[in-house]
Amino acid sequence: MEDGKPVWAPHPADGFQLGMIVDIGSDTLTIEPLNQKGKTFFAPMSQVFPAEDDVNKHVDDNCSLMYLNEATLLNNVRVRYNKDHIYTYVANILIAVNPYCDIPKLYGPDAIKSYRGKSLGTLPPHVYAIADKAYRDMKVLKMSQSIIVSGESGAGKTENTKFVLRYLTTTYGSGQDIDERIVEANPLLEAFGNAKTVRNNNSSRFGKFVEIHFNEKNAVVGGFVSHYLLEKSRICMQSNDERNYHIFYRLCAGASEDIKKKLHLDSPDSFRYLNRGCTRYFASKDSDKQIMQNRKSPEHVKVGALKDPLLDDQGDFNRMCVAMKKIGLDDTEKLDLFRVVAGVLHLGNIDFEETGSTSGGCVLKNQSGQTLEHCADLLGLDQDDLRVSLTTRVMLTTAGGAKGTVIKVPLKVEQANNARDALAKAVYSCLFDHVVKRVNQCFPFETSSNFIGVLDIAGFEYFEHNSFEQFCINYCNEKLQQFFNERILKEEQELYQKEGLGVNEVHYIDNQDCIDLVEAKLVGILDILDEENRLPQPSDQHFTLAVHNKHKDHFRLTVPRKSKLTIHRNLRDDEGFIVRHFAGAVCYETTRFVEKNNDALHMSLESLVCESKDKFVRQLFENSNTTKDSKQKAGKLSFISVGNKFKTQLNLLLEKLCSTGSSFIRCVKPNLKMVSHRFEGALILSQLQCSGMVSVLDLMQGGFPSRAPFHELYNMYKQYLPDKLTRLNPRLFCKALFKALGLNDNDFKFGLTKVFFRPGKFAEFDQIMKSDP
Ligand code: ADP
Ligand code: MG
Repeated sequence: MEDGKPVWAPHPADGFQLGMIVDIGSDTLTIEPLNQKGKTFFAPMSQVFPAEDDVNKHVDDNCSLMYLNEATLLNNVRVRYNKDHIYTYVANILIAVNPYCDIPKLYGPDAIKSYRGKSLGTLPPHVYAIADKAYRDMKVLKMSQSIIVSGESGAGKTENTKFVLRYLTTTYGSGQDIDERIVEANPLLEAFGNAKTVRNNNSSRFGKFVEIHFNEKNAVVGGFVSHYLLEKSRICMQSNDERNYHIFYRLCAGASEDIKKKLHLDSPDSFRYLNRGCTRYFASKDSDKQIMQNRKSPEHVKVGALKDPLLDDQGDFNRMCVAMKKIGLDDTEKLDLFRVVAGVLHLGNIDFEETGSTSGGCVLKNQSGQTLEHCADLLGLDQDDLRVSLTTRVMLTTAGGAKGTVIKVPLKVEQANNARDALAKAVYSCLFDHVVKRVNQCFPFETSSNFIGVLDIAGFEYFEHNSFEQFCINYCNEKLQQFFNERILKEEQELYQKEGLGVNEVHYIDNQDCIDLVEAKLVGILDILDEENRLPQPSDQHFTLAVHNKHKDHFRLTVPRKSKLTIHRNLRDDEGFIVRHFAGAVCYETTRFVEKNNDALHMSLESLVCESKDKFVRQLFENSNTTKDSKQKAGKLSFISVGNKFKTQLNLLLEKLCSTGSSFIRCVKPNLKMVSHRFEGALILSQLQCSGMVSVLDLMQGGFPSRAPFHELYNMYKQYLPDKLTRLNPRLFCKALFKALGLNDNDFKFGLTKVFFRPGKFAEFDQIMKSDP
């Protein structure tokens, strides 16, 4: 940093602000903001960065800036965002800021055409350019490719994923049904797997990896979707201002009178699984405006039907039905899906009360009689069996040596409520598995040469309360971050090596220790949790203490009380643990970890649904991933591990990713209000840090981020130079040119095919060439 030049210094809301250094301490600097003379403040030296000479300038590829640091990256992204340039490269990585509005022509047919076959960097940064690069790499290298889309909820992952799929099927499709089906599968998946949350009105509550398969001629032949971790808690309960899965409301709003009657549907208001947690809104359209105004105030309107004015459930229902038709679902299949959805809603309305007898059990409340009938009817169950299964539990005893005596234990009201909710979750998640499976039948393929896979999975999560769901997601993100580090850093080093540049190896923080903490055999947190689940009387506290005991001195793990994170909660040591993730420390509250880690239904319920009279329902459970086999292996059918299933899935996914070439799209959420043209710097900065972009910049700043093949330089500049020079071959031409210009030897290196420039030096050179006569 030079005297008299502005620097970027921390700013609580904007991320960074411009200022001048007025004094230098041992490790702090005194800064005077440019726009507030006299109001000096201190800043740690490590958080002050050199600024570009022209802070209003922006570049397509951040690596062509002179100074590569988090402040110049944030500024570049900001200047571009203000001009509606939402995409920016950092070398080959694409940063995508959610515009929260339609940018004219950005994605239209002309844009799709223009990116076809173009190298990265020849046109403005775009998600289409990444898709086309993946396709060209697949074709040239004869190797499958993956595109990893990441970012926090609402950052635009799913939208960008859809653009990739649309681009590839439009540009390189077979011109047949299959192209459209790959795109049209989304509305169906989203109906069953997306919900409105406070962070995103259409939030995907599952992760997915969508593969588009190509034949030997590199044309689309089919597709395959894998899904991960559907959020189950949402089926029975939602937080304030959030909703259950879209399908429930859409069915209530959009089904024909005939279907509604058949399924005994009513307004969402009348269903327990829909009317808890969610803000109630006016029903009439006329008052929507008023609601929108009221929404700006913290007190939401709480009257009338349960309908969100921001969502058009009826219209969405119709659109979903069109999509279902396009991908080939007939009316019977459609009704099968709807019947089970309605069955889950009625199940949720069953209520229990104490019997008052000495047995301590419970019975169905009187008014639940009809509900029970509807539910049993829709799911093909016997009413009495359903009632008994919900209020008692079958257990095998070994008493008196008589192995396998069956006894019925009456359940308390709370236990019966839990049994009901467990059944609802099991039915719905099997239904979701079925939807994905059915979608996969829409684009079958016999053989494929290669695929391009797009991963759309939740990014690192850190909320006020973090539970098992966040634990799994953050574990997943550790693995993906490790993959990112290996790919980006390894590729960089390999390139330097291939080009014969003698530069030092680049180092990065390895997060293997954190991954081991979670997934190591026996001592990893997932295995400790499984061990707890297998105890006769598992408890969250006992599990939590076991974690602390096993990892007393682990660098990545601490007890909650030692942390500033939980001052407001005052968690005891047996109520949680803190993990230091690559993206920051997160305190997990372990209440219900044991329950959430178990996918098994209790025995009476399991056999109930497996023996349903309804063929479709029976199939759901036969086909569900918790097959009979794995149940038998699980011994008493009492425990099927959610965590370890995810671990297995995740490791398979990573094996797959490792075997492909990869591209990365980092999605960024510009503000929490979900509005357009509002750039909250500090919020965005933390996302760039969490996604590992800042580490990439550190790496690049020490290396040679800008590179240009000799022949490109030759073609670019020969017009500016005398004939004598242009007769040389491209490599010699460049050498002679650089010598003539007196460039500093430290600013560039000659590889075998390319010149490598230090950060910003290529841009500087380009300017000299174009301005010097
Ligand atoms: P995520 O999957 O990361 O949670 P989404 O992709 O669902 O986020 O995006 C959330 C919302 O933001 C979308 O419903 C849409 O309204 C808006 N959005 C995201 N990306 C774009 C884009 N490229 N152009 C316009 N709107 C977008
Ligand atoms: Mg999403």
